[in-house]
Amino acid sequence: MKLTFSPHILYFKRPFKIAHGTRTSTPIVLTQLEYDGIIGYGEASLPPYLSESHQSVLSFLTKAAKLLSNLNNPLEIETILNEVDKIAQGNTAAKASIDIALHDLVGKLNNRPCWNLLKCDRNKTPYSTYTLGIDEPEILKQKIEEGFDFKFLKVKLNGENDKQIITTIRNYTNKPIAVDVNQGWKDKHFALEMINWLSTQNVLFIEQPLSKEKLDDSNWLYENSTLPIIADESIQRFSDIDKIKNCFHGINIKLMKCSGMFEASKMIERARTLKLKILIGCMSETSCGISAAAQLSPLADYADLDGCLLIKNDFFDGVRFENGKIVLGNLPGIGAIPIEGGLIE
Ligand code: MG
Repeated sequence: MKLTFSPHILYFKRPFKIAHGTRTSTPIVLTQLEYDGIIGYGEASLPPYLSESHQSVLSFLTKAAKLLSNLNNPLEIETILNEVDKIAQGNTAAKASIDIALHDLVGKLNNRPCWNLLKCDRNKTPYSTYTLGIDEPEILKQKIEEGFDFKFLKVKLNGENDKQIITTIRNYTNKPIAVDVNQGWKDKHFALEMINWLSTQNVLFIEQPLSKEKLDDSNWLYENSTLPIIADESIQRFSDIDKIKNCFHGINIKLMKCSGMFEASKMIERARTLKLKILIGCMSETSCGISAAAQLSPLADYADLDGCLLIKNDFFDGVRFENGKIVLGNLPGIGAIPIEGGLIE
């Protein structure tokens, strides 16, 4: 029995749409890995900053398909993924799509959910934040209402009108807020002043306040900050963790950045050893990618896994949220099922 890998891009019947804002849609590639009539599903989400495209993903997956078709034991996850990783540098989203499909397949072959295979306690899932983005007061109000059942909110700031945005939100809600600056603060002193002010505003943590290039400044901020600082753009894969361990209190692990669930598990283990906090995050993804990340969420301190709620045409039925708390079910694999009729090839 051989693995059959179908590296074809499945397209949406309607364009992939982000529910809010003016952002252009993030391309998505879906993959299928088949063994003995069982299919594992995977997803690559391609935000522009990762520099992957439909074309680069398809080219990588075509090479991977050749390699996978020579393998006959899908249970050898580590061996298979090490070989896939060696095909080319980068391509982490393409690699993640194979990793997710393989975990889904192996879960289904064992008739066990991935959280169970990964020895996670599903009662320990964190609450996910609900993202507000940068917007006009009226839209912010509308988004806060849409996320009414989430306990925690996530706000993106960029150095312009930051205090005004937080003050506007505080007119409507006192919920704890996770702040994501996306490298938007240009100066460490300005950053510290903002953090000091935000620490009076019921803020949980600050994600990537400074440019990923400014590690010395990040180290200074880490030593002076009154709130935990979490690395996002500064951390991609396992090998990055030790480089930034003295510059941040925690790391944001995203499957699309780190190449998938296998590497994410290793990163969580290393981060725990270094006493770093763990945020499990996502890109704009369907419930395929999000459900895969959710399987690991019991190992994280925080979760930012609302990506599938922020798109208009999710075509997988997967992870659920109860008042924002991630709920993991009993379905084998990653726990996501394609919605019938949602896709065309
Ligand atoms: Mg971020």
